[in-house]
Amino acid sequence: MTAAAITITPTKARTPGTIATPRAAVLWVAAGIVVRSLVEIIAAKRDGERLATTDIARLVGGLMTGELADYQMAAWLMAVFFRGLDDAETTGLTEAMLHSGRVLDLSSVPGIKVDKHSTGGVGDKVSIALAPLVAACGVAVPMVSGRGLGHTGGTLDKLEAIPGFRTQLSVADFTRIVHDVGCCMIGQTAEIAPADRRIYALRDVTATVESVPLIVASILSKKLAEGIDALVLDVKVGRGAFMKDLPAARALAQALVRVGTRAGKRVVALLTDMESPLGAAVGNALETREAFDVLTGGGPADLVECTMRLGTEMLAMGGAMGEQDARVRLAGAIASGAAVRTAEQMVEAQGGDPRAVTDGSRLEVAPAEIVIESPRDGFVARVDALAVGLAAVAMGAGRTRADQPVDHGVGIILAQKPGARVARGEPLARLRVRPGADASSIAERVREAFTVGEAPPPPRPLVLDRVDTGSTF
Ligand code: URA
Repeated sequence: MTAAAITITPTKARTPGTIATPRAAVLWVAAGIVVRSLVEIIAAKRDGERLATTDIARLVGGLMTGELADYQMAAWLMAVFFRGLDDAETTGLTEAMLHSGRVLDLSSVPGIKVDKHSTGGVGDKVSIALAPLVAACGVAVPMVSGRGLGHTGGTLDKLEAIPGFRTQLSVADFTRIVHDVGCCMIGQTAEIAPADRRIYALRDVTATVESVPLIVASILSKKLAEGIDALVLDVKVGRGAFMKDLPAARALAQALVRVGTRAGKRVVALLTDMESPLGAAVGNALETREAFDVLTGGGPADLVECTMRLGTEMLAMGGAMGEQDARVRLAGAIASGAAVRTAEQMVEAQGGDPRAVTDGSRLEVAPAEIVIESPRDGFVARVDALAVGLAAVAMGAGRTRADQPVDHGVGIILAQKPGARVARGEPLARLRVRPGADASSIAERVREAFTVGEAPPPPRPLVLDRVDTGSTF
């Protein structure tokens, strides 16, 4: 019998026609070329071999059809953890995961479609301000976001603090809203990169999350499924981030830009500081209020700057304009009220109360307050983002397991940021808690997150580096 060749990777050690394992039959193909068994592909990566794109596609496809067991994929993931993947392999994995589901077709939306992705941090509510702001400047933003897990918050949880706001929409509604309003923010559907869900769940329980090529394929497969043309990445660096130091963050950013570019997209990454929380608010409703403040011309300086820098990159890619023009355009959309109007239209189109954009009282916040005071005179030397993020999780604002609900109303407001001069007894932070909640241990954690020293700390730039194709190849 002759059969069409499925893959062209010849096996090294096997005699054609033998059966390697009951699960993994070695198939004869035309011209005597042998298809590697799935076990052989796992062994090849274990032994440090470079895999063909077709081999990687067979593993991912096998996982989705059941031909490859979870424990086999887990073994391969551990092999990747130690042996790595080069850019061609990582691109192959990204594309296999991307095509495990549906790739949205946004060709009905005119112009370049640009999204932003953050690797996650504490107080990072940028997307909620950025998507309507950039859309108000004429560049469409289709955004598929995630939920909070561990100390990092998630955009969907923050948006769901808006009464009525729906994050689970059909693809047709998503496309229509991007077309009509210019932006739409939804959660990952079962149709988008389903292989990523399966693989991420395995990575989570096999200590294989911290692998750069696996992170790259996971992030890009979901983002490329949105039907975008360009992507701006915000790779967070510091205590509250996935990547704790600049070299590690830079390596991730460079890999994301290289692989995204190989996959045919324009990709730029900013590396931004996550040593202390971004902005003042941590917790869902509080953060959404603060993000909307940016659209009305307010908001903490670091949040405004982060939004403007990322927005500038998005406009530059989507509207073919220089940095100066992009900044002027963004500032103009805030000053004219266009950004607020776009946010109101998006919220309304997604079933939410549009009045929440300019009236923060429509976002319910827990009524009881606990004030954390400075123990001494001095300067705030540090606010530990990880400690604040974990305190917010302990309050119920976040989750430690993917299936846990969150309390949208609780959270922490930082009254002081690093560098501020404070007097003994002056508020450092305010906790918003449910009446009667025992928050004493949480209050202690937040107090410990602040270091008050003799002298102001050296200033830290918000944007630590920028990576684009010019700087990575
Ligand atoms: N975020 C993702 O989406 N995937 C990862 O693997 C890590 C962070």
